[in-house]
Amino acid sequence: MKRSDKQCLNCGKEFLPKTVTSVYCSHVCSKKAYKQKMKQLKNEAEIKALVDKIPQNRAFISVPEAGMLFGIAKKTLYRLVEKGKIPSVNLGTRLIRIDRRVMEEMFGPASILQQAESPPKKKLYSLEKEDCYSIGEIAQRFQISEGSVYSHIRKYSIPTRQIGKHVYAPKSEIDNLYNGNDFI
Ligand SMILES: [Zn+2]
Repeated sequence: MKRSDKQCLNCGKEFLPKTVTSVYCSHVCSKKAYKQKMKQLKNEAEIKALVDKIPQNRAFISVPEAGMLFGIAKKTLYRLVEKGKIPSVNLGTRLIRIDRRVMEEMFGPASILQQAESPPKKKLYSLEKEDCYSIGEIAQRFQISEGSVYSHIRKYSIPTRQIGKHVYAPKSEIDNLYNGNDFI
């Protein structure tokens, strides 16, 4: 390489720069690099848009959501979940939910995409009857057995309250657990 030559940032060929700031060998390379950059920005914007849809105070996230938030390949996460390295609740096919706190403990804070925003609010829930579902209601609403509801409640230490014959759990916590989209 002659001292005046530069390596094109796109194709890697050596070239004689027209100006000191030239980094591409040709107009074609410069255009390709620009397109590439735009594509990357678009991908980042798309991921950011998806990440923004995940409420910050939602404790339970899907595997695709966890992948985006923590920058880990979905495949890897599914494998870790399967091996039991990441505890999860399986609400059915493709309805695996992971506790966000567990992810943070394992992989550090979530993506910078979300950190830029205000810190998550302290979890608040009300145990007033009107803010709660009964176990029966939860089972019906989310199409799962009451036994599963109880085991999820125990597993994730969701507060409950007995009123009369029925056990109630806060709507907010239950919605957190069972809602959320898989992006696939
Ligand atoms: Zn080039």
